Amino acid sequence: MEVNQLQIRKFECSGCKYSDYRMSAREIGETLLNECPRCGKSMEVTGAEPPGWLAKPLRLITKHFEVTDFVAKDNRIEVEVSARDPKRSFRTLLKVFRPRGYLPVMRERMGELKLVVLRYPKVRPSNVVINILLFCATILTTFAAGYFLIFGNIAKAALFSCAIMLMLGTHEMGHKIAAWRNGVESTLPYFIPAPNMLGTLGAVINIKGPIPTKEALVELGVAGPLSGFAMAIPLTILGLMLSRPDPTGLALPMVPAIFAIMQVGIFGYIPSGMVLNPLAFAGWVVLLLTMFNLIPAGWFDGGHVARGLMNRERHYTLTRTLGFTLFLTGIPFPEFPLWFWGFLIILLFRGYHPGALDDVSELSKRQKSLAAMALVVFLLCLPVPVG
Ligand SMILES: [Zn+2]
Ligand SMILES: [Zn+2]
Repeated sequence: MEVNQLQIRKFECSGCKYSDYRMSAREIGETLLNECPRCGKSMEVTGAEPPGWLAKPLRLITKHFEVTDFVAKDNRIEVEVSARDPKRSFRTLLKVFRPRGYLPVMRERMGELKLVVLRYPKVRPSNVVINILLFCATILTTFAAGYFLIFGNIAKAALFSCAIMLMLGTHEMGHKIAAWRNGVESTLPYFIPAPNMLGTLGAVINIKGPIPTKEALVELGVAGPLSGFAMAIPLTILGLMLSRPDPTGLALPMVPAIFAIMQVGIFGYIPSGMVLNPLAFAGWVVLLLTMFNLIPAGWFDGGHVARGLMNRERHYTLTRTLGFTLFLTGIPFPEFPLWFWGFLIILLFRGYHPGALDDVSELSKRQKSLAAMALVVFLLCLPVPVG
């Protein structure tokens, strides 16, 4: 289909000066009664020449989709389309739109395929100095926590700090590489220093650009936890081999299932108390953090994965249900921060996860297996009560 086969007309309101462009066979000068979407007065056809901001993207769309209807106003174009292979057409459209500064979004509403074209948002450059400062601050706070609150020994505190930074860093680099692979703009990791037992609340990278496909969304979500987990396993095993069971030593209130499995593998049983090597302690922390990250709510890592697998309404219901369930079931166990995570989910995720730009096409097999791997890691990191 060619763009000049589309009958593009400009409509202007006689009352409030609202105007838009639509597909119509009416001639210039004709009026539509009670049509103004703003004030309800009549609209008049005043032109048949589309401006550049409308004609150019429409021309590109018609190369890959059949256009059945559209309405456009102020650089926002909503197009009803159909295509034999919408997934492929959309990917091609993404490629040709990106360098021209257009941002397409594909949605399905009541069985209709719809493209919304916007201007690509300006991505503000971020200040790397902040990343570096936070990184250094977190080295200090994790070292301080290791020295003053846990081990009381400089070498052990330094090892604890290095191990935490290495595992968190690997987690974030996983996200960063996935973002880069999928052409999504993102910041470097921000480490979060904290004056708590661990010296940190973890780290985050900030996604700055839109996420093109469900595949990209799932990859972005799983890449962090899977890389962090892969780094945590050997370090934790090494740490446990250097630890020794001691009933008078540190009694961990709960351990991730995989941690318990490693303990059984190394000691033959799950000790009630241990003199823990800093690597093992850092591993215990990171495995628990991995589990929390993989809760499939909101825009947690697990939330991105879940959103790739379900539509926004279902994911919203899942998020709210998880939030309230964790909060209510966690209240009787204040020593374990379930209630806190429930509270966080309720507080943070009150809207829909926007999802990928193509929120319609089915997820590919490869990313479905990545999601399954994330589920396995989540289950392996679930805490089991011990002692
Ligand atoms: Zn009006
Ligand atoms: Zn993450």
